[in-house]
Amino acid sequence: MGNYFYSVSEFYKKFFREKIWKISLDLGIPCVHGKCIYCNETSFIPSNVRGRKIRTQIEEGISILGKRYGVKKFIAYLQSGTNTAVSPEVLEKVLEEIFSYKEIVSLSIGTRPDYISQEVVELFKYFSKYKPIFVELGLQSANDDTLKFINRGHTFSDFQLALQKLLECKNLLVVAHMIVGLPGEDKDVIFKSFEKVSHLPLNGVKIHHLQVVKNTPLERIYLSGRVKIFEEVEDYIEILSQLLEILPPHFVIHRLYGDIPHNLLIAPRWKIDKNSFKLKLEEKFKERDGYQGKYFKR
Ligand code: SF4
Repeated sequence: MGNYFYSVSEFYKKFFREKIWKISLDLGIPCVHGKCIYCNETSFIPSNVRGRKIRTQIEEGISILGKRYGVKKFIAYLQSGTNTAVSPEVLEKVLEEIFSYKEIVSLSIGTRPDYISQEVVELFKYFSKYKPIFVELGLQSANDDTLKFINRGHTFSDFQLALQKLLECKNLLVVAHMIVGLPGEDKDVIFKSFEKVSHLPLNGVKIHHLQVVKNTPLERIYLSGRVKIFEEVEDYIEILSQLLEILPPHFVIHRLYGDIPHNLLIAPRWKIDKNSFKLKLEEKFKERDGYQGKYFKR
């Protein structure tokens, strides 16, 4: 697949020069927003890490994942919640703890664009001198009407501002989260949104398809028939391949589709595994003689 798009595994091989694995950690910091219409926060937290000490989570991760996958180096992954919403003192202690492990070669931390304070930037500046930091910043769409409708609580310019601040840190890479198929977005809006993102100084993107999750406002909208989703995986793969063509070749594709646990998922309930998804995407690219960056406008 390396010929068709720049996969995260290819990037990690080049960047870290050895096999690495992610250890999912949970600080127990809830999302400070909690209002995005598609979100049920419990769907992000791996059940094995909930409510446990960070040190225990790291050490278990190193031991279990190390044996299972034959790896010695790891990325500490703080995915759920608004990880930069704690006080700078608390965040500093957490980073100190994580960075003290020689097996941890990098940190990946997820947060919202409206929680990048100058104190957070200063901490990242300091810690990124020692190990690279990836910041996963939720954007979802570059269209402000959509952001308002889905209740994100920030605009596209808020995202740009946060990105600008984060890039003051030398050894820090930003990954934008995007959702394809948000309510009210037709193909034209989705393409414009990805085109805007394609010109940002990002390491890459994590792309999700719109998923309807139990106990969310989106579930009610979906069940009332007011929102369309990609019921068939083939329809999503068609648009995904076209979106990858307009992204620059250097963007790392950290994710191709969403992966909500099936017990929380209303729709779409595709029956497909990672490998079959990649094969189908590959076939689509072959069919059109396409590849990432083919239509990227500089
Ligand atoms: S999508 Fe992220 S920011 Fe929005 S409510 Fe869920 S956890 Fe919070």
